[in-house]
Amino acid sequence: MILLMIVFIFYFCNLNVNILMLLEQYTEKNKYTRKSKNGTEHVYYRNKTYIKLRCDCCMEAFVRAKSAMDPKRLSNSYYHVCKNCDSKKFAQERGLEKRKIWTMKVDSLIDISML
Ligand SMILES: [Zn+2]
Repeated sequence: MILLMIVFIFYFCNLNVNILMLLEQYTEKNKYTRKSKNGTEHVYYRNKTYIKLRCDCCMEAFVRAKSAMDPKRLSNSYYHVCKNCDSKKFAQERGLEKRKIWTMKVDSLIDISML
């Protein structure tokens, strides 16, 4: 049986990232205990890195594990949406803004040469 215990947290402020959407990156040190075949309990530690982001939809800060993210999305060039917001709806609204700029209608039959 593995017991998960959060012992202490290290905060590393990354000053290289833009303060717009990528807020900070920090590492959390977790303590685990496992029992060996002889019944002796061994303690071991694992570091997990988290990214603090600002939601592009509601502007609230949220945290995601770095391991759960695509590395190329770790930039301010991408939109980041928290779990409380609807990411699909947010993406549709971004498309709508572009269509308003280019006065395009929603039509899949538009010839690509006309774009
Ligand atoms: Zn949000």
